[in-house]
Amino acid sequence: MAETKTEGQKLKEKLFMEDKNGWEELSEAEKKVVLKFSDEYIDFLNASKIERECVKSAVKLAEENGFKPLEKFKKLKEGDKVYTTNRGKNVILAVIGSEPLEKGLNVVGAHIDSPRLDLKPNPLYEDSGFAYFKTHYYGGIKKYQWVTIPLAIHGVIALKNGKNVEVKIGDEEDDITFVITDLLPHMARKQMEKKLSEGIEGEDLNLLLGSVPYHDEKVSEKVKLNILKILNEKYGIVEKDFISSELEIVPAFNAKTLGFDKSMVAGYGQDDKVCAYCSLKAILETKAPKKTAITLLVDKEEIGSVGNTGMESRTFETFVGELVHLMGEDKTPNIIGRIFSHSKMLSADVDGAFDPIYASASERRNASFFGMGVGLNKYTGARGKAGANDANAEFVAELRKLFDDNKVKFQISELGKVDEGGGGTIAYILANKGFDVIDCGTPVLSMHSPYEVTSKFDVYMSYKAYKVFMK
Ligand code: MN
Ligand code: MN
Repeated sequence: MAETKTEGQKLKEKLFMEDKNGWEELSEAEKKVVLKFSDEYIDFLNASKIERECVKSAVKLAEENGFKPLEKFKKLKEGDKVYTTNRGKNVILAVIGSEPLEKGLNVVGAHIDSPRLDLKPNPLYEDSGFAYFKTHYYGGIKKYQWVTIPLAIHGVIALKNGKNVEVKIGDEEDDITFVITDLLPHMARKQMEKKLSEGIEGEDLNLLLGSVPYHDEKVSEKVKLNILKILNEKYGIVEKDFISSELEIVPAFNAKTLGFDKSMVAGYGQDDKVCAYCSLKAILETKAPKKTAITLLVDKEEIGSVGNTGMESRTFETFVGELVHLMGEDKTPNIIGRIFSHSKMLSADVDGAFDPIYASASERRNASFFGMGVGLNKYTGARGKAGANDANAEFVAELRKLFDDNKVKFQISELGKVDEGGGGTIAYILANKGFDVIDCGTPVLSMHSPYEVTSKFDVYMSYKAYKVFMK
């Protein structure tokens, strides 16, 4: 029996901003599609723990989907699929649109670096019968989260002969593992009285590597010698080769489905590989767009987007310059500036989800929740929006319409309470150059921890948002 609604109920329905949990709106068939999408995402995460691996995974998928490297083209035309990589740590993919570049681009940009521990350039030492690697943490971490968990070593050692030795050790079930030790509670009275931020100190994040001395009474540092002997046999390296290495310590455990209801993903590096994967999938499936569509996967966001693999570099402008040239559009003055001022971008970066255990850090009316879709952050920044790209209201309105028309469930939020939260993304960088930009990404629990959590529903909606934006 259908109940008739009162005038007040009808009025409220019309005027209030109210929303349902996204899972409740899905049919069984749709639910299957959402869950399946994250199975592939989990595989991607496990193959791509660091930026170099992420680039490799992206290039592999791109090639399988008909993308070709930029240098293969003498000319570009509508529908062409092109990509370029930068120093193995960036990748840019484009599908050429039917309109001239001058009319603007639709860009989705994510970052593929994640908080971790990097080896120091002179990392190996011995102390009291143990061998260790010294580390320097990368990005914003809570140091206490990185002790007593299984860790793996990923990266490269660049040799003087021009060759790279690739390292990826510690992830497989039947592989060895590494760990950073912590003090037992029985002896930790003084440590336990310290502030959380000081309980584990940066110089104590030393990775345990071995404990067997080399058999020779005549030498000192026998444990270190034995480790170097093993490394020399395995990788052909000597101690000095660490100087030219980039070795990253990442959690050894793999990403998995979380929960009895299988609704979530737990895994390392979801900031920002979740948006990287979704934006990659979106461009791989983009065909014949009106405006040229671009997915941009950059490095170094976690330390300020600096350097020649970060968003602040000229790499992206150079790429657009190449497109202009190959499209024969370089006959007009200030073409790059004009393209940028007509362009739009979703800065695809994760959002801090509301966590009821730490509810007091968020302001409920402006927080993002699991199961409510992709999160839009009109602005980031901290203390009076400082450093924020504050998206223009007109651009937000345009996106609301696009998402509503295409059944993309989204929510609007900001990162934590005023004067408590705050952060930055790559959004402001292209905004400064004339783009309309907004942060648009998946809400995450335990962000920047070794095991971050996302909702499969929101992951799918992020992908859908990027896809309709490019179309
Ligand atoms: Mn991020
Ligand atoms: Mn981050």
